[in-house]
Amino acid sequence: MGALIIIVIWIIISIVFFVILYTVIQSAMDNTKMASNIQELRDHFVGLKQEESLLSKDGPIVEVGSNEEGEDCPACGNKVTLNEFMCPVCELKLRD
Ligand SMILES: [Zn+2]
Repeated sequence: MGALIIIVIWIIISIVFFVILYTVIQSAMDNTKMASNIQELRDHFVGLKQEESLLSKDGPIVEVGSNEEGEDCPACGNKVTLNEFMCPVCELKLRD
């Protein structure tokens, strides 16, 4: 009778082992899918960042910023916006 109990316990243990193995394999497969998805996303974002850095390298940011702000007053060097017809510091007439 002792041998029968050992066989039953062995069968139960082997069933539990296969269930655990199946779960581990299943989760591993999910992880690979997730990992490949994350890899795809990472490649996508890295590509975007590389494009961004290439764009910022091509376009000199400082010059663009100063162009948007306006121009320097020829008399006092004060920054004057394009909307202003007169320098607010030295009152030099910039445009007619
Ligand atoms: Zn001025």
